[in-house]
Amino acid sequence: MSNGEQESWSRVKERLRADVGEDVYSSWFARMDLEAIEEGSVRLSVPTRFLKSWIQSHYAERVLACWQAQEGKVTRVELVVRSAVLKSAMLPKAKPDIGTAENGARYTNSNGRPLSVGDPSVHEALGGSPLDPRLTFDTFVVGRSNTLAHAAAKQVAGAKRSDAVMFNPLYIHSGVGLGKTHLLQAVTWAGNAAGERKVLYLTAEKFMYGFVSALRTQTALAFKEALRGIGVLVIDDLQFLQGKSTQAEFCHTLNALIDAGRQVVIASDRPPSDLESLDDRVRSRLAGGLVVEMGPLGEELRFEILKARVMAARAHHPAFDVPVPVLGYIAKTVTHNGRDLEGALNRLLAHNKLTGHAVTLEMAEREVRDLIRPQEPKRVKIEDIQRVVARQYNVSRSDLLSSRRTANVVRPRQVAMYLAKTLTLRSLPEIGRRFGGRDHTTVLHAVRKIEGLVGNDMALAEEIEILKRQLQE
Ligand code: ADP
Ligand code: MG
Repeated sequence: MSNGEQESWSRVKERLRADVGEDVYSSWFARMDLEAIEEGSVRLSVPTRFLKSWIQSHYAERVLACWQAQEGKVTRVELVVRSAVLKSAMLPKAKPDIGTAENGARYTNSNGRPLSVGDPSVHEALGGSPLDPRLTFDTFVVGRSNTLAHAAAKQVAGAKRSDAVMFNPLYIHSGVGLGKTHLLQAVTWAGNAAGERKVLYLTAEKFMYGFVSALRTQTALAFKEALRGIGVLVIDDLQFLQGKSTQAEFCHTLNALIDAGRQVVIASDRPPSDLESLDDRVRSRLAGGLVVEMGPLGEELRFEILKARVMAARAHHPAFDVPVPVLGYIAKTVTHNGRDLEGALNRLLAHNKLTGHAVTLEMAEREVRDLIRPQEPKRVKIEDIQRVVARQYNVSRSDLLSSRRTANVVRPRQVAMYLAKTLTLRSLPEIGRRFGGRDHTTVLHAVRKIEGLVGNDMALAEEIEILKRQLQE
């Protein structure tokens, strides 16, 4: 490339810088290079596909205008992604100086062993936040509300160093207690276990008080050295990231990592557009990867989570048993929040351990009362259930309440009790009273009976679904 061309390119960059401002320029254009000028066509390169698509969609016209102001004959600006080989040759120029070498294990610890980020002392030196050994993919239950987030997290955790980064950053958001931290720590555990890429997990607070201050300390060489080895940076609770200078560091770190082909994973309680305290550049960069929302845990998912939790608890407390109806009851009544589910089970476990009493519906009702979500879904009345069931099975309501035990009324009665239990918040004794003054054990028996049957009897399961729908409309 001629000196004249380089000269023009420098002028164009100056124009661009003046035009978009220093901040925007350093975020998006600092790593843009001139590759060639042919006829009226200019070819520029950037290190990542993300930068390319971002610049193309947001700044294409400005870049062209700056070129035209400099060189009237330019009619076209083409943007390409620099090859990996070229990229690593150029990386030392990038700022800050993260991300040249792939192998960060050059430092040794006090025993002379090479340090790696998997090593707790390095995780600490880097300000890594503590990890909970229970929060892994194995214990994460997948349901409708989190399928996509789970798949993306799995993909990230399993990616090879040589794989192209698919979505960067991966940004997961949801309300509180819906599994963000669980997923992020699962990525960290799985990624570090696979040994392909070092994964560093940080809360935003750790990022602010450990990471950033270490970044700023010129003497923190060990830190910087170790940082080079990070393949995946995971930041939890990004909504807590505050302060202008922290944000600037965050932005630079983000850019440097992404441009160097490192994966960034973020969780927050809101989408990027609602992170009011972050400036536009950071927000746009965050929104430029894959943004996934996790919805509230549905009843089915809550049930599965509870079931898995009980299984896990039984490893330590073999005598702990929670009957399916109790799980169903908690799944139905306790809020959407995963933490409350855990709290509910802990209470049952404590009660069971301390008193030696088996876990029953009554006990559950008493123990978890305050965790029950305040707004009941739709209030279904027991009278309605009895009316609808009687109509469906062609018996009378008084048959259901009577003491008759012929098969043609026993089954409908059991179905009605089952529905009363699953669709209302009435206790077993109360349901018993409303069905002709029966004992609560009779109700419990009916509920269990139907629960057992619907697993095998498709026709019955179907009937019950139809009844439920009628009642909830
Ligand atoms: P968040 O970070 O979104 O506030 P957490 O990840 O801390 O939520 O989840 C709260 C609790 O709920 C944790 O105990 C977590 O293990 C549990 N939890 C949430 N979602 C799931 C899930 N899909 N499978 C298993 N446990 C879950
Ligand atoms: Mg969390």
